[in-house]
Amino acid sequence: MAGRRVLFLRTFRNDDTNFVIVNSLALALDEEDRIEVVGDHRDRQLATEHWQRAFGLHSQPESRIDFIVSTRTDWRRKVMERIHAADVIVLFISPKDLDFPEFPFSQSRSEIGGAGDWERFMREPMTRPLTGQGLLHEIAYLNRLQRLPHTVVVCDAKFQPTLDDLIVLGGMIGYAVDMAGNFITPKLTATDKQVGHLRKAFRGVTYQRADPNCPILPLLADAVRDALAEMAATGSTRHLPPWKLEDLTGPSPEPRRLPPDNELKIIAFSDVEKVFFIPSGEFIQIEDQEMRRILNRTAVRTGCPYCRAPIEKMFFYTRGLTRLGLGNASGENDWPNAKCQVCGSKSSLFGEDMLAPQ
Ligand SMILES: [Zn+2]
Repeated sequence: MAGRRVLFLRTFRNDDTNFVIVNSLALALDEEDRIEVVGDHRDRQLATEHWQRAFGLHSQPESRIDFIVSTRTDWRRKVMERIHAADVIVLFISPKDLDFPEFPFSQSRSEIGGAGDWERFMREPMTRPLTGQGLLHEIAYLNRLQRLPHTVVVCDAKFQPTLDDLIVLGGMIGYAVDMAGNFITPKLTATDKQVGHLRKAFRGVTYQRADPNCPILPLLADAVRDALAEMAATGSTRHLPPWKLEDLTGPSPEPRRLPPDNELKIIAFSDVEKVFFIPSGEFIQIEDQEMRRILNRTAVRTGCPYCRAPIEKMFFYTRGLTRLGLGNASGENDWPNAKCQVCGSKSSLFGEDMLAPQ
């Protein structure tokens, strides 16, 4: 049987636990399987140190691991290529990425009526992002490439309840309120909501690291081996995403079929891999500079009318694949919209020079 290509993804690079998990993964896999790690030059040295503590001084990690060196500018592209090519993905959610002991709930209000939900929402502070950016990139890319069903998620047992809560909350649409209109769920940022996609992963495996110095976790290896055997046994055929891998990175003046709905979209001013929330339907991106000239100073200062994220966190676009122009004399104008990359909400041009929630 040909060996499998198993991609190891981590959410926080500077965590030595990464290599304890890699060692355990090597123990779980067959000799002919290859582990892939995308990282930088420091990885190899750290991996070797941890590897030799687990497998002996004469053993080299290269016997089982392919190190794929990336730079600050190309790692997103490389990670996506490897996600696309791998047979199986193991995503390690580092405890260092989950440094949140509890959710900040919004303050309770007792009066019924009064301010409408939207005004009330505006007054509530947005919660800080609960999860690290690393985690969100990886989840977004696994989701866009439709590889979560081939992904085993590994996390420290003590963080499992928090992660479970996030997955459930992240999967919720909209905001829940009680009878008095109080928000009963924390206002997760849209990036936190991405975590909800993890419910599509094949399996989550937790571990306990009683001894912080142990270089390998044999019980975790057993659990991962079982999960991968079961994944193979269920024989879930892989469905290739309808969009092309090469269309998921970089800007392009040409229309591309993109997630979430495979419609033609023109994203000419941003790298697609950096746009977490791609609007649905056909659209053309509008350059930030053009919108800054249109919006009045208050609107620019306010940024997102929902969460007050700065204006540079807004993705501007207009429906359709042709531009009519803004404010031209004929009266046929584009209708600019904005998708906030922090809270995920949509707003639109209102009047001449404002952004209003939609
Ligand atoms: Zn926002």
